[in-house]
Order: sequence, then structure tokens, then C-alpha cells
Amino acid sequence: MHELAMVRSIYDVIMEKINEYDVNRVILVKLVIGELTGVEDTTMKSCFEVYVQATPVEGAKLVIQRVPAKVRCRVCGNEYQTKIPFSDCAVCGNKSITIISGKELYIDSLEVE
Ligand SMILES: [Zn+2]
Repeated sequence: MHELAMVRSIYDVIMEKINEYDVNRVILVKLVIGELTGVEDTTMKSCFEVYVQATPVEGAKLVIQRVPAKVRCRVCGNEYQTKIPFSDCAVCGNKSITIISGKELYIDSLEVE
């Protein structure tokens, strides 16, 4: 239950944020999720829905923005988008790469009332 652990930590962050202000409920949660997190949008959404029941977050719309996986070749510096399994560098054929993006998972914004 990979997603459940993530939902739990997202929920904790939301509660921490809204406790700082006078918030009745959360209307919308915008998440940024990288392609390399292995998180499925649909699983994430259904986990979230169940987890936030009977909390100020219940009924909030979850909007997910995906970030593509991007890597940099360690030999020639070529940067390219890829998927798992990572493709070799198209410029020099090297397999050694550094991940630049695709591992992010954070709350971009909240809408509350
Ligand atoms: Zn290269």
C-alpha cells in the first residue's frame, strides 16, 4: 500500500497547513506527482477519498499534475525524457544517467473556505 502511506503524509501536511488558519474545509488539493514515484492517479484518488472521510478534507477535489521523468547523460550531458526502463542516451549510447525530475510528490496548492 504505497499510495496509502503517501496519502497519510499528504493529509498530515494539509492538516498542519489548515490548522494555521481559520479553515472550515478544504475544497481542492493540487498535487504534483513525478512519473518515477510509481503512484497511479486512480489509486491515489480512491485512497485519498477514503482516508479523508469525516475530516475537514472530506469531499475535496484532488487534482494531480504529472511530472515526466527527465534524465541527464553522465557522459555527454544530453538531457532527455524517458520512461521506466530508462532508455540509453540517444546521442552517445551511454547507459549511465542522472535523474533530474520525476521523483517529486508534493502539494502544489490548496483551496479552502
Ligand atoms: Zn550521452
